[in-house]
Amino acid sequence: MIPFNRPPYTGNEEQHVLNAMRSEKISGDGKYGLLCQQWFEEKLNCNKALLTPSCTQALEIAAILIDIQPGDEVIMPSYTFVSTANAFVMRGAKIVFVDIRPDTLNIDERLIEAAITSKTKAIVPVHYAGVGCDMDVIMDIANRHHLYVVEDAAQGMMSTYKGKQLGSIGHLAAFSFHETKNLTSGGEGGLLIINDPQFVARAEIIREKGTNRSQFFRGMVDKYTWVDIGSSYLPSEIQAAYLWAQLELADQITENRLASWNSYYEQLSNLATQEKFELPIIPENCQHNGHMFYLKTKDLLQRTELLSHLKAEGVYAVFHYVPLHNAPAGKEFSRFNGADLFTTTESERLIRLPMWFNLDQDSLNHVVKSVLSFYEKN
Ligand SMILES: *Cc1c(COP(=O)(O)O)cnc(C)c1O
Repeated sequence: MIPFNRPPYTGNEEQHVLNAMRSEKISGDGKYGLLCQQWFEEKLNCNKALLTPSCTQALEIAAILIDIQPGDEVIMPSYTFVSTANAFVMRGAKIVFVDIRPDTLNIDERLIEAAITSKTKAIVPVHYAGVGCDMDVIMDIANRHHLYVVEDAAQGMMSTYKGKQLGSIGHLAAFSFHETKNLTSGGEGGLLIINDPQFVARAEIIREKGTNRSQFFRGMVDKYTWVDIGSSYLPSEIQAAYLWAQLELADQITENRLASWNSYYEQLSNLATQEKFELPIIPENCQHNGHMFYLKTKDLLQRTELLSHLKAEGVYAVFHYVPLHNAPAGKEFSRFNGADLFTTTESERLIRLPMWFNLDQDSLNHVVKSVLSFYEKN
């Protein structure tokens, strides 16, 4: 069986993890943690990069930083991972979903303004498949209405929008280093990016259990103490060492995934022009990172048939998000503003093909052949 995903692995992870173990400093923010954070601060040109145990927790810190209060509203797409919403729901927010664009499956920026009320506090664009949302329009809306923008860039590491790194545009951004993402810190991990300098000092405190321990380590205070709310949001040095091995090869990992992505695209484009299915669309001002290769079948029935055909051919392909507004908790914590023209229908047609760093050409060709043989019959 060709799996759907394999965790990225460069071969240098063992050495760095061993170094971290032998250093006898294995709790967070040691040598490797700081190396990683510096790397991101340079890459994204941001005020601060803070490693977290997950993207979910980076989003939770963001929700605290923008001071979400019970009843505040947060606008986002419904076609996303549950944590995008939950991080804000946990602070008492009401989620206001708007429809997605059928081309990128990202939030439709033209529908955001109509969803804004006097209670709106933030917009959370999700860069689906590592393809950027239309951030210029979103930032303009946010500025005019005095809203915060928190980018859910979980899938967007190494992608750009108009030449800017995803995650470097909103006031805050969150990345994931889960094993299914392009880079991993050993299975689980995340990153909070702070572009708006007003949030830096408090973010460090929240991440250190509500204490000013980071300032203490820098010699800015002579003892550390409880100063704010917070939690334990530091990953260990072992995780940072694992991630460092991947950052050293980050360009190579991205190029390799893009090569696989392009190979899928070229080999499937003939049938796509015959309108058997649809291929992803990358807007001209976006450079993506090969995070995901998907196609869109005619409808849910055809997707179900294609998935079982692929399984019989030894290919493990998968669908993706079930829209949050249709989920049990979605009914309680959210409302959908406007009509759901694309969120549900597009989500029901989408199928993701196997994709990982160093996906071999033989496996990829077998996946393509299996898709083609399905459409020869259908
Ligand atoms: C993976 C993902 C998350 C959650 O990441 P974790 O690191 O597992 O918490 C959040 N949002 C999106 C869009 C994701 O793809």
